[in-house]
Amino acid sequence: MDYEIIYKAANSCEAHFIKGLLKQYSIKSELLGENLSIGVGELPVDVLQIDILVPKDQIKKSKNIISDYENNLSLDKSKENWECPSCKEINPSSFEICWNCKE
Ligand SMILES: [Zn+2]
Repeated sequence: MDYEIIYKAANSCEAHFIKGLLKQYSIKSELLGENLSIGVGELPVDVLQIDILVPKDQIKKSKNIISDYENNLSLDKSKENWECPSCKEINPSSFEICWNCKE
């Protein structure tokens, strides 16, 4: 299946967060830059940014999800997000378990 870049995450935390977010909507995503699981091998070693790829037929749906995510980021953060008691990561209110440590 063809994959297309939908989002460029600033770091691996954000990339995993978005991957988890897409997974909630049954969208399979691939992270490029962190590992080379989809077989693109010639990346500069100093690239920290991680590309998030989704199947082409899921692009539209994924874009909606990510734009919601970005909107949420710009809304009042402290209102709904919660901090994980074990690893101190911030989770959105829609997450019942921590995205990072699954506690
Ligand atoms: Zn946690």
